[in-house]
Amino acid sequence: MKTIIEPFRIKAVEPIRMTTPEEREARLREAGFNLFLLRARDVLIDLLTDSGTGAMSSEQWAGIMRGDESYAGADSFFRFESRLQEMTGFAHVLPTHQGRASERILFELLGGPDKVVPNNTHFDTTLANVEHSGARAVNLPIAEGRDPRNRHPFKGNMDVAALEHLIDEVGAERIPAVMITVTNNSGGGQPVSLENIRDVRAVCDRHGLPLFLDACRFAENAWFIKQREPGQQDRPVKDIVREMFGLADGATISAKKDGLVNIGGVLLMRDEDLFRRASSLLILTEGYVTYGGLAGRDLEAMAQGFEEVLREDYLQYRIRSTAYLGEKLLAMGVQIVEPPGGHAVYVDAAAFCPHIPPEQFPGQSVVCGLYREGGIRACEIGSVMFGRHSRPAMELVRLAIPRRVYTQSHIDYVIEVFDALRARRGDLRGLRIVDEPPALRHFTARFAEV
Ligand SMILES: *Cc1c(COP(=O)(O)O)cnc(C)c1O
Repeated sequence: MKTIIEPFRIKAVEPIRMTTPEEREARLREAGFNLFLLRARDVLIDLLTDSGTGAMSSEQWAGIMRGDESYAGADSFFRFESRLQEMTGFAHVLPTHQGRASERILFELLGGPDKVVPNNTHFDTTLANVEHSGARAVNLPIAEGRDPRNRHPFKGNMDVAALEHLIDEVGAERIPAVMITVTNNSGGGQPVSLENIRDVRAVCDRHGLPLFLDACRFAENAWFIKQREPGQQDRPVKDIVREMFGLADGATISAKKDGLVNIGGVLLMRDEDLFRRASSLLILTEGYVTYGGLAGRDLEAMAQGFEEVLREDYLQYRIRSTAYLGEKLLAMGVQIVEPPGGHAVYVDAAAFCPHIPPEQFPGQSVVCGLYREGGIRACEIGSVMFGRHSRPAMELVRLAIPRRVYTQSHIDYVIEVFDALRARRGDLRGLRIVDEPPALRHFTARFAEV
C-alpha cells in the first residue's frame, strides 16, 4: 500500500469552529497581532505548537483513572520511574511540571555568571534559563543547518570543530555542560545523528565535560536515525533511543512532546550528588520528589506515553504526515526549511515576502496572514522570538503538527489556505512592536501594522 494511514481510530471528538473573515480581523486587532493572545475558540486549525496539544490514547485515559494520588511513594511514580530508567538507562528520574522546570533546576545548579553553555541551538526557554542563571548561551549548529535549502540528512548536528574552538577560547573550567537538542527545534526540527552525538561525547570526554540532551523529541530523532543513518536501518527504535541517552550524562525532557501528554516533564541524570542537589531544588519550588508538581494520574499518562511513542507504526505515520505538508508546500513554490522536520514544517518567511525587511518581522506578518485567510494559527520563529539582541539566521514560520489530532483533510485545508495567501502575498504588511516585556517577548508583545 502507498498510503501511510493514521495507526489509530477516533474514540472521542471535539468540535472546531469556523469564523468569518470579519470576525478574524476583529480578533486579530484585539490581540495586537500576536496570536498567543487569541482565544483558542477563535482558531480553526491550531498549529501554534506541538507542545501539550496531542491526543491521549484510551490506555493513557485508563491510566488517569489508575493514578495513585498519595503524597509520597505513589505507585504511579514507581511505574513512571521504571519506564524512564528502562528507556534511557539513567539511574535518577525526577518528574517536573514541564521541560522548563527541568531546565531551571539544572541551570540553577550548573549555570552562573562567567559560565558558558554550548548547544547545537538553544530553544527559547533553555536560552532564557541559561541567561537567567547569569551564564552565556552559545549556539553551535553546523553550517548546513543555517541554510534553508540544504538537504543534509542531519541538519540538527552540532559543529564539533566550533565546540573545540569554544572550549579552547573560554577554557573547559567555564563550561559546566555541553547540551545537544534532539531534534533541533529552533533550527527547523532537524535531527542529530548518532555519529554527531558520539563525536561530541568524545570531545566532552577529552575535556572532562558532562553532556546533557535536551531530549523533548528523542523518539522522532531516533526515527530519523533509523531512516537516514548508514547501518541503523535494522535496529529497533528503542535500541537507538537507549544508545542516544547512553552517550549522555543526563537529560531534560518536556513530556508535552514525545511523552504524548498534555502536561509533564522529566529531569534525568547519572550523578548521585547532582541528583541530591536537584531533588532539594525540586522540593523547594515544584513538589516532593515522587510527584514534582504533577498529579499521580499525570505520571501514569507519561509512563504510558513514553511507551506508545516508540511504536514504529506511530513514528512512521508521524514523520510522514509532517513530510506530506512540507512536500505540498514546496510543490506550490513555498520555500521551506528542507527537508521537512519531525514535528513541524518551517516556512522561510523572508523568501515568502521579500518586500518586508527583518526589522518589520516578515514571519509575524505571514502568521497574521494565515489567520486572516483561513483561521490557522502558526508561530513566528525569527526576529520576534530571538531578535532582541541580534538578528537570527532565518525568519521562519513554524507550522507545528499536534500529535494524533488532525487528519489528512485538515492538512489539505492548510495547504489550500497557503495557496490562497501565496497568491496575495504582495499585500502582506510589516509590523512594529508597540509593547514588549523584558524576556520571552513573543508570548505577550503587541504589534501595529506598518
Ligand atoms: C518545548 C521545549 C522545551 C521546553 O519545554 P516546556 O515543556 O515547554 O517547558 C525545551 N526545549 C525544547 C527543544 C522544546 O521543544
